[in-house]
Amino acid sequence: MKRNLAILGSTGSIGTQALEVVAANPDIFTVEVLTAQNNADLLIDQAAKFRPNVVVISNEALYDKVFSALDPLDIKVYAGEKSLSSVVQMESVNMVLTALVGYAGLIPTIAAIKAGKHIALANKETLVVAGELVTDLAQKNRVDILPVDSEHSAIFQCLVGEFHNPIEKIILTASGGPFLGKDRDFLKSVTKLQALKHPNWSMGAKITIDSASLMNKGLEVIEAKWLFGLTPEQIEVVVHPQSIIHSMVQFEDGSMKAQMGLPDMRVPIQFALSYPARLKSDFPRFDFSKYPSLTFQKPDVQTFRNLGFAFEALSQGGNMACIVNAANEIAVASFLRDEIGFLEMSDLIEDCMHRVSFVKTPTLEDYIKTDEEARRIAMEFSF
Ligand code: NAD
Ligand code: MG
Repeated sequence: MKRNLAILGSTGSIGTQALEVVAANPDIFTVEVLTAQNNADLLIDQAAKFRPNVVVISNEALYDKVFSALDPLDIKVYAGEKSLSSVVQMESVNMVLTALVGYAGLIPTIAAIKAGKHIALANKETLVVAGELVTDLAQKNRVDILPVDSEHSAIFQCLVGEFHNPIEKIILTASGGPFLGKDRDFLKSVTKLQALKHPNWSMGAKITIDSASLMNKGLEVIEAKWLFGLTPEQIEVVVHPQSIIHSMVQFEDGSMKAQMGLPDMRVPIQFALSYPARLKSDFPRFDFSKYPSLTFQKPDVQTFRNLGFAFEALSQGGNMACIVNAANEIAVASFLRDEIGFLEMSDLIEDCMHRVSFVKTPTLEDYIKTDEEARRIAMEFSF
């Protein structure tokens, strides 16, 4: 079951861990495409080691640097975001791992699906922005969308062998992030350094802030709806600070399945890349003696309003989740530049949900326009 991979965003947290999986299983995986936005040095090192056919550096100013390093190795180099959509279509690629962050994942993922490539989906924003369109397209093109996100991988793993059995509900677990138990007064003045310290996972900056604000769980609720064909009422979120149970499925007979393990993204990454097989690994194993108790509590949606916005976006449908996603991307970037406070991120998202034009049955063009409009309105937001 040889898999030839295109890894979009190979220099990030998911991308580098995927390459660890590849390096440990050279007889199964080859790398055809590697891409990065700005980290030319790491992209060059990765290309020298994994010898892809092609690399893409999105930042065009870095093209010369990458080209002169890789030309002697006979590796083709392209620049610019548009190149992502063409390289995923290469004949030799049979699976695309979308490990890039944000809205930028949408267009290349659609191009890959149209070209009949299976998708290992880390870029949850793709399904948040245009879940209906993307999942319809995948069905038409007989393409699998295999979840990399740990919660969705957990649900998917619980469903193996059960695909014909209806789901009563799913329970998405959330760690609660670094600010679990804190009140609005405390959150008013937290800094990005505090927000970037996640208790259980080491991830890219955007998703780490999303985890601190519970937006990540909100995005995951929307992602789950589209991956598993659920209604909002079938999706429950429970805070589980130890991050050992990665999520659960409850079936119609009342039986529940949970998928467990140490928080290690290499497990879900590898399962998406090797599905339906499980590959032997030497990742650290869970030890019960180190976890005398696993605990669960309700999320505090009064303090962490973003989770409510995600459910609201689901019930409104149309382009509302696209609006939430764009507003959130601007909010997180502004917070990381110390321009707005932690709680103001939610105010900004709420403002955009009211002000950006609502479209009930959006086309791809509408999503592109909505993303632009929401970013423009979010940038105008003042306190
Ligand atoms: P990251 O910031 O560590 O890496 C992002 C990668 O994408 C880098 O290689 C970067 O060069 C590239 N990139 C960034 N912006 C780009 C753009 N505009 N165009 C092209 N390339 C771009 O991010 P990450 O933490 O690896 O997350 C990647 C995706 O996976 C996100 O959608 C995130 O929500 C999802 N995810 C991550 C984790 C995790 O543990 N890190 C877990 C679950 C889901
Ligand atoms: Mg997750």
